Amino acid sequence: MDKKEKIAEILKRLKKEYTGKPSTVLHFTTPFELLVATIMSAQTTDVLVNKVTAELFKRYRSVLDFANSSPEQIALDIRPVNFYNNKGKNIHKMAGMLLEKFGGKVPRTMEELVTLPGVARKTANIVLSSAFGINEGIAVDTHVIRLSNRLGLTRHQDPVKIEQDLIAVTEQEDWNNLAYLLILHGRAVCQAKKPKHEACVLYDICPSRNI
Ligand code: SF4
Repeated sequence: MDKKEKIAEILKRLKKEYTGKPSTVLHFTTPFELLVATIMSAQTTDVLVNKVTAELFKRYRSVLDFANSSPEQIALDIRPVNFYNNKGKNIHKMAGMLLEKFGGKVPRTMEELVTLPGVARKTANIVLSSAFGINEGIAVDTHVIRLSNRLGLTRHQDPVKIEQDLIAVTEQEDWNNLAYLLILHGRAVCQAKKPKHEACVLYDICPSRNI
């Protein structure tokens, strides 16, 4: 089985295993809210981010509300999440830049999104796919890094290189599906410390089944 066939088989099995629309579990009602939540989610669990944004988005109703606040105030308001000072700065600056350069709207291209403070390819991919339904890349997070390596789909640890490896062997219509299915499988079965090989639907095609 070459890598393309392997990816197709992995997708087939995981789609059967995890039904429903693969999408971020972060709560949002607008692309801007998703952008803020995704910036907050680095090194922080989605559950915690959802808890904090439930209150945050009641106080900050628009891009303007964030831009008119201060980095210090935003940092205080997102304080339970890791790196809140840095994230507060980035969110404040990002809101200002959206108003200045993008008419207050979240841009719909990778090229533009990655010019925003706090936004790298992973964040941009999540926003493009979950807010706009655009498949422009593959969001590579810690689960995708681990599973891609364990499944023999890449030898890299660098997210950008992993994304290139996955893109090369996956149909574009499945880029978004692949990221979310690997994340779901990483959370449920192929966990970092104790992967449940015996319960895994990929067992027979996984080179790491004995780790
Ligand atoms: S067989 Fe084990 S290492 Fe391979 S994907 Fe499944 S749980 Fe992960």
